[in-house]
Amino acid sequence: MKIVCENVDCEKDMQDLVNLFYDENDNPFSIYHSFVTIGETTTSKIELQKDGEKKEYVKFFSLPQNLTTLREKSVKKSAFKNHLYQVLSAVTKKSLPWGSLTGVRPCKFVREMVERGEVKEHLIPELLMKEYFVDEDKAKLLYDIMRNQKCIIKNDKLVDLFINIPICPTRCNYCSFISNELCKVADKVEIYLDCLLKELRAVKKLIADKSYVIRTIYIGGGTPTVLSASQLEKLLSEINYPVTEFTVECGRADTITREKLEVLKRYNVSRISINPQTFCETTLKRIGRKQNNKQIFEAYMMAMEFDFVVNMDIIAGLPGEKFGIFKRTVSTLLELSPQNITVHTLTYKNGTYLKDDNSSVFEKEVPKMVNYAEKVLQENGYKPYYIYRQKHQVSGLENVGYYRDGNVCIFNIDSMEDVSSVIGIGAGAISKRVFNLENRIEREPNCKFIGDYIDRVDEMIAKKVKFFS
Ligand code: SF4
Repeated sequence: MKIVCENVDCEKDMQDLVNLFYDENDNPFSIYHSFVTIGETTTSKIELQKDGEKKEYVKFFSLPQNLTTLREKSVKKSAFKNHLYQVLSAVTKKSLPWGSLTGVRPCKFVREMVERGEVKEHLIPELLMKEYFVDEDKAKLLYDIMRNQKCIIKNDKLVDLFINIPICPTRCNYCSFISNELCKVADKVEIYLDCLLKELRAVKKLIADKSYVIRTIYIGGGTPTVLSASQLEKLLSEINYPVTEFTVECGRADTITREKLEVLKRYNVSRISINPQTFCETTLKRIGRKQNNKQIFEAYMMAMEFDFVVNMDIIAGLPGEKFGIFKRTVSTLLELSPQNITVHTLTYKNGTYLKDDNSSVFEKEVPKMVNYAEKVLQENGYKPYYIYRQKHQVSGLENVGYYRDGNVCIFNIDSMEDVSSVIGIGAGAISKRVFNLENRIEREPNCKFIGDYIDRVDEMIAKKVKFFS
């Protein structure tokens, strides 16, 4: 589908919205858009063209006064998106749960509006419903999430540390991360660890030189507990910052042992993830996730003994799962009662095995699953505290993290709200520098692949030191 925007460069954003109404391979029409401003009135004109036929849709609105060029561009983009949403919604007779909102970080979008003084916090749900056509329950969800993010501290010297272990025991067929199966990189694990230690030592000096303070540490992946207990000890012994929160994403229960959890505890890890994704073992086999419920329950019981805060991820819309199976997974989760639960919606991504074989995904049932989880988790004392959306997520839905008893994960909030700098270490890690006063963000990625990272670790270190200087 061809999209042409005459005055604002936003074809990509519009394509994201169009993709929520139409299948990527559909070609219903071309879209031409223009803005004309005369006096205080701006006219947004959308033309849909197909086979020589043309339909025109016009909307008038007033631009706020005294906008910077950048802000004017963003306001116009938003106006066009709202207009396009109305047109597509009328043409297809469809509405979307998140209305005209696209983008990964819906909560950041509304928080910044509050910070600019454009809307009072308590009026957010009303604004989202009226101006952006967001469903009432999603508008309320976003408002609740924003109110549950009180731990945000905007201080350019306060940073998070992220260490990536992009290795897994096997590959799950819905996964799009650049993660390597252990059997394919087994000979590189030790040297990868040595490179991580080298980068960590350089970062320690950088932190001291620039007077940064590490607030949280997150070791993610991949599956960090694919490392042996002694390899974990080698890594963790290099990390000794007095932090507020220290997470290790264990992920796969088949990699968790008592010995490894002892190491994590000894080095002050406070939070771990054990991610079932589903408690249906037939589905686990179908998606190539080689763990079983016995392993998940045993890992969880051990984690309880060590007094870790535990997060568990589940996914709505896994192949072959109808509402009843998902509901049983939620019930089992509630019986276990981990402090954090993250409910993901299935995403079709390039580079996944699922992309080629999505015939058994019951898409129409997925909104019901997500709404059910949102309702029942809150009835059981869980509160939503962070959210993100992804392209190609079934029904344009979302991923939401929940907490109980005050146990939010600060790192997740910082990452999704872009409020804190992140020092990223290891292959595939991306460092982020947030300049809060200037409302500006810069990013600096490390090499994506383990082999390249090992070969170029000195270059990665030099780039990082320069980036944070
Ligand atoms: S364990 Fe996680 S990172 Fe690894 S393949 Fe499965 S989904 Fe991807």
